[in-house]
Amino acid sequence: MHVPDDGRAAVMTQAKAPLRLIRYPLPELEPGAVLVKVTCCTVCGSDLHTWLGRRPAQTPMILGHEIVGRIVALGKAGTLDSDNQPLREGDRITWTLCASCGRCSFCRERGLPMKCLQLRKYGHERCDAPPHFVGGFAEYCYLFPGTGIVKIPEELPDEVVAPANCALATVVAGWEAVGLQTQESVLIQGAGALGVYAAALARHYGCRRILVTDVLEHRLVQVREFGATDTFNSADGTEAEIVQWVLERTDGCGVDAAMEVTGIPAVIPVGLKCLRIGGRYVLHGNVVPGAEFSYDASDIVFRWLTIRGVHNYDTRHLRKAVQFLQSTQDAFPFGKIVAHRVGLEELGEGLHIAQSGQALRVAVVP
Ligand SMILES: [Zn+2]
Ligand SMILES: [Zn+2]
Repeated sequence: MHVPDDGRAAVMTQAKAPLRLIRYPLPELEPGAVLVKVTCCTVCGSDLHTWLGRRPAQTPMILGHEIVGRIVALGKAGTLDSDNQPLREGDRITWTLCASCGRCSFCRERGLPMKCLQLRKYGHERCDAPPHFVGGFAEYCYLFPGTGIVKIPEELPDEVVAPANCALATVVAGWEAVGLQTQESVLIQGAGALGVYAAALARHYGCRRILVTDVLEHRLVQVREFGATDTFNSADGTEAEIVQWVLERTDGCGVDAAMEVTGIPAVIPVGLKCLRIGGRYVLHGNVVPGAEFSYDASDIVFRWLTIRGVHNYDTRHLRKAVQFLQSTQDAFPFGKIVAHRVGLEELGEGLHIAQSGQALRVAVVP
């Protein structure tokens, strides 16, 4: 495959400023690294958090971590995919949003490679030094050794797979963390992309009641197409009314598990109150520092509640995410999740559309 000398990237130089299109030379590949031609990258909520300056960022930076592409070059030492199969030029792939070292205590002993001490995270690092291409809003992406790589079945379109990497893989990890079981009832707080995938997964796992709350009516309508059995517009109800609504749908006992995917700390006490005795709660969305909430700790003790935080995910979660899309693509309208497409030149406009909430995902096609 012909590989040019350089490629373009949309670079964030400071918060809220227009992105700048910059050409960088394509990098030399270290052993185990992979160079990918990006074919699609979707805009995640956390890209918006960074661009809007809600959390610290190391600029200049190429945002974007929900990425799909084709391999154009491989470093020496032949990299394997998540099935231990050798990768080749031309393979269509997606990959974990982080690269782990495989040697530190979190990688080797504590089962948390996604919290590796030497973690590299796509779309989160400076790009002014080689290999430059460390984010998805660019023509190329450089995959560090230690990245989990998953081949994409040809029948799954780019736009269906790209959001799997982050949104779907994250909720796969979340439901796993609280041990979701068939025939359980769940509450999902938030009907954005993570909420939609969480509902579809819960349906696929055989959950009985899948309750979803959000403040945007069009999202509540949409999430029903993804397996939600009951929806409630939380802008219209008090905390007590939301809890009552949940109790009425769970034999007065509360849901077995709940998931927070709103990014709003104020919803956490409501989620905890909606749990049954022994219920489990997983937090995903509150990724901006300062997200404080207050709660009566005695309720957690008396009712045996479990609270789990889940950030990033492991290769197996991404594999499961892609397999889930493949086996359920006829059951759920995944193609509707991406509602807008932009090129690198119009990415600024794409970020504004993503921020407005009118589309679950905006796709960047470099
Ligand atoms: Zn490590
Ligand atoms: Zn993300």
